[in-house]
Amino acid sequence: MSERSAHTDIQRLLDILRATGKKYDIQKITQAYEYAKELHEGQYRVSGEAYISHPITVAEIVAGLELDTDSICAALLHDTVEDCSEKTNLKEVEKKFGSSVALLVDGLTKIVTLQVEDKEEAHIENLRKMLLAMSKDVRVIFIKLCDRLHNMRTLNAKPDHKRRMTALETMQVYAPLAHRLGMQRIKQELENLGLQYLDPIGYSEVHQHIEEKYGENLGFIESIRSTVDQKMRENNIHFTLEGRIKSVYSIYKKMYNQNKSFDQIYDFYALRIIVDTELECYTALGLIHEMFNSIPGRFKDYISTPKPNMYRSLHTTVIGRDGIPFEVQIRTWEMHHVAEYGIAAHWKYKSGASSKAELDHKLEWIARLIETEDEQRDPEEFMNALKTDIFHDEVFVFTPKGDVIALPNGANVIDFAYAIHSAVGDKMIGGKINGMIVPIDRTLENGEIVEILTSSASKGPSRDWLNIVKTSAARSKIRAWFKKERRTENIAVGKSVLDAEIRKLVKTCTEAQREAVVLALSERLGYNSADDLYNAIGYGGLMVSKLVRRLQEECERLIKPTLPDTNAELEQEPERIAVDKPKNVKSNSGIIVDGEAGCMVKFAKCCNPLPGDSVIGFVTKGFGISIHKIDCPNVVEGHRNPENAERWKEAHWEASEEQGNGRSVYEALLQLHVDNRIGMLADITTALADMRVSILQVNVVYKNDGNAIVNLKVGCKNISHYESIVSRLRGLQGVDNILRGFS
Ligand code: MN
Repeated sequence: MSERSAHTDIQRLLDILRATGKKYDIQKITQAYEYAKELHEGQYRVSGEAYISHPITVAEIVAGLELDTDSICAALLHDTVEDCSEKTNLKEVEKKFGSSVALLVDGLTKIVTLQVEDKEEAHIENLRKMLLAMSKDVRVIFIKLCDRLHNMRTLNAKPDHKRRMTALETMQVYAPLAHRLGMQRIKQELENLGLQYLDPIGYSEVHQHIEEKYGENLGFIESIRSTVDQKMRENNIHFTLEGRIKSVYSIYKKMYNQNKSFDQIYDFYALRIIVDTELECYTALGLIHEMFNSIPGRFKDYISTPKPNMYRSLHTTVIGRDGIPFEVQIRTWEMHHVAEYGIAAHWKYKSGASSKAELDHKLEWIARLIETEDEQRDPEEFMNALKTDIFHDEVFVFTPKGDVIALPNGANVIDFAYAIHSAVGDKMIGGKINGMIVPIDRTLENGEIVEILTSSASKGPSRDWLNIVKTSAARSKIRAWFKKERRTENIAVGKSVLDAEIRKLVKTCTEAQREAVVLALSERLGYNSADDLYNAIGYGGLMVSKLVRRLQEECERLIKPTLPDTNAELEQEPERIAVDKPKNVKSNSGIIVDGEAGCMVKFAKCCNPLPGDSVIGFVTKGFGISIHKIDCPNVVEGHRNPENAERWKEAHWEASEEQGNGRSVYEALLQLHVDNRIGMLADITTALADMRVSILQVNVVYKNDGNAIVNLKVGCKNISHYESIVSRLRGLQGVDNILRGFS
């Protein structure tokens, strides 16, 4: 590309190292350079340049971060093991440069020999390997980001489809990773380069607009600068001013996210004031607010409450001349370095054992991400976990004591509970936001105060929560609970799920054959026993959909000879299979629908039937059978249509459910007409907690006459349980009437 990147000698790298003023082992670095040069001899980049120009430039970028000798050596050697495998390997590198360099190079080397089904999976495996290496030594990711940065700078040389793919991956993985590590400078360059390849027209339009707008507003900008400059001098503050700090991508994203035209974007300009001490930050802020009117709600103190990626600064938006708003960022030099280089700045400034501990603490989230064991078996889920945990913006909420909890955007009350502690999540019966009871799946907003209501009588989390939570941390804690507390149940659930899958693949087999298949499969997946495999499926750690191919292989290997030839035979089988089914999983739903054994059942939302209610089933198109109360208005209405006559099926509850001995908890809807007195809602929730009834949803409608309607959705075992709840609530002072269902 440019002449600057096409060089092959080490001189400029040595100059950069010298300029840092730090001590480097120049001999070792030179040796690494010579070795890499020799290995890459005869290799060329797509641009036609000698290959060695790439590792050299990467090493220069790494040197710019002021990392240590081993990092520089690893940067020089980062492509040797992968691209020159006939001439060298990790052992060689270790012999020549020591284990620390070899470990870094290993972390930067893709898993070449990996046997995985498809490209996408291989790709995710490589990413995981890198993150794993990074959790052991964060220098891996610094070097990787520098590598990616140079590849992005020279991406022009690559063919079109490769450019897009690399740019996309940069935007989805590397830029957010840089952001999460607080490395704003690299992040911004990666984003701007990524945008140039993904939306070249959009990029140049925004770029041009910024230039134009900047030109038009030069007078405005100059007047602000000189006003600020003068005021700061008068107050004897030693400071530096920076302007033009908004990147093309940040403006582009704002226009895109907020669907605004460029003319509607005012904060294309921001002013940064860098001072010497923290105290001066606040003094400067006071002066800014003295000079300009500030926009309420836009002031942010990231000094007292740093962002999780360690970013610290004061932000405020004020109105300048002609009513144009602009942002001012105020920080010290140290905060500035941390803002630009993030965790790498930590590396630069600190050393010693306590520093290592501090660094580990800051990188805990990576370790957490990697150790969520069972999900790790599934690349797709790993990627999802990455996307929600690292690659999302955070939302900041508070505990009632005022501690800040940062969660990924979109997280809800359950995520919050588990972020506090597993024990809090496991005992949760409800939640409050800013003092009001809310549904536990309510999405959290910035600045809200969240309180978790717990009860020692809680029977633990619900399996439904697995589908509701947004963070992988909460999900794996819920799974851990089921794994630990409900092994017998998990095994039964897992067995029925896997059996059903086997039945789909082979219509007839003996119990011994089935057992052989399951055993082979569990061995293949690294479980100690069939029960362990069932257990993993049962608590949701392992998705059956991901096993189908391997299951099929085992079935073919172990059962195939007995496979029936024609479909005609298949259709005679179901009866026998129904007998084979283990008793305890005969019906997961607690409902038996006549003539439809084992079908999928769901409970109609219109009437929410409870065990004990007379019910009827309706065969839906594609969603199994929905169960209604027999007196549900929809049933009465539905029966008027003779066309559907055949779709109505008789249904009844399993005896254990009706007696309240079943495992399941059903949703019951109660509508309370109450006196809107102080403490009414608290009395209701206390009564429910007392009875160990979990609140699934609360919604209150306040009326003008001093009354209120409380719509409650609670967990309930059967109709007599429901009646006992109603009679308890009726006894509360101020409860006028209770209806079943919401109207
Ligand atoms: Mn490379």
